[in-house]
Amino acid sequence: MDLTIEGKTYINGNFEDCCIGITDGRISAIKKILKEDEHYNFRGKIILPAGIDIHVHFRDPGLTHKEDFSPGTMAAAYGGISCVFDMPNTVPQTITLRSLSDKIISAKKRAYVDFGVYAGITDGNIKNIDELAKKCHGFKIYLGGTTNSLHFNSNNLKETFDKIKSTNKPVLIHAEDNNCLVKHKLKENSLVDHMNSRPAECEETAIKNILKASGDTNTRIHICHLSSIEGLELLRKRSKNISCGVTPHHLLFTAQDDLKPQSHYKVNPPLRSNFDREALFVALKNGLIDILESDHAPHTLEEKDKEFNDIPSGLPGVETMFPLFLHMAKKETLSFQRMISLLCEKPVELLNIPKGKIEDGRDADFIVVDLKKDCKIKSENLHSKCGWTPFEGLPAIFPECVFVRGEKLIEDYEMLGAKGFGKFVGE
Ligand SMILES: [Zn+2]
Repeated sequence: MDLTIEGKTYINGNFEDCCIGITDGRISAIKKILKEDEHYNFRGKIILPAGIDIHVHFRDPGLTHKEDFSPGTMAAAYGGISCVFDMPNTVPQTITLRSLSDKIISAKKRAYVDFGVYAGITDGNIKNIDELAKKCHGFKIYLGGTTNSLHFNSNNLKETFDKIKSTNKPVLIHAEDNNCLVKHKLKENSLVDHMNSRPAECEETAIKNILKASGDTNTRIHICHLSSIEGLELLRKRSKNISCGVTPHHLLFTAQDDLKPQSHYKVNPPLRSNFDREALFVALKNGLIDILESDHAPHTLEEKDKEFNDIPSGLPGVETMFPLFLHMAKKETLSFQRMISLLCEKPVELLNIPKGKIEDGRDADFIVVDLKKDCKIKSENLHSKCGWTPFEGLPAIFPECVFVRGEKLIEDYEMLGAKGFGKFVGE
């Protein structure tokens, strides 16, 4: 063994006082007593698996004035996330083998934590799915228009699901129906206008189309950032191959809240009513929702401070997601079991990667948390290049230490890790 760590550790749904042995970046033993020369004792704190964020937009390549893989993955590390999965709506879009390879090569030089990528599916590249599968962890489909999104006609869903099935990779879907969005489009001055411009009906139509096209296929389908009661109701009785996610912002904010400036909270799908928000929270607690995903979509303050109608949708969140929920777990708003399932266990199941659980053979990715160290989120303490947060002032608990593959990336809330340490996961 190379090193051992000791503390109150989350294993199989419970906390146990134990020691974890690490060899070559993997967990090689879990016992009551283990001690190597390099030994860390985290008495009085808890050790949890590090989180996985299945949904980030690091804008790299092409839009790196907003974010790139260095600050993006640094922000992830500070927020207790050891692996991120980047979406394809960069410039160029990752819809070819070449653009996927280029993104991976560039990200390897810049990443602080491990990462994976999605291939975007458009009407034009469905035939290339087998080839694209060699370089991606999953596929992404946009059924409705959003920032630099990829055009896809929902009539192609069935054929696409059939093709993806043989790759054994999941497909993630932005579920807002484009015809519906076009029909309701209006000039917007506020979050309520934005909600009315993209009504829940559009999410409902998109999910109906997905369920109809999926039929009895076993293709793994993940519905991203669910936002409405209507969408939730459709997914209440779903087959096992279908999962769904929700973002912290849809759980914490509504279009009717007194949010300022309004433009900072413009996001797709939009923030909705308090009925929707409450229903999502109940679903989060009772297990109807599988995954928490940040949809980290940073835009600069300059871009976000223009006329409401013209500003891009999206907000940052990779660094604050786990800390917000650690605070909720401490306050018993949500159990530790649910939180770990949502942020660690279900994401690794979806993407089939050897992380997310403290068990023999998996990557030694942990966070160490001192539950007494509550704080308020402040943008000046965060690390995304965009420099602002919609969660300003909310209570959170950040991890004190973060280990990725047995390396101490963060110690005493400070970065020890280096750019380029992050690996393309599974390679
Ligand atoms: Zn997104």
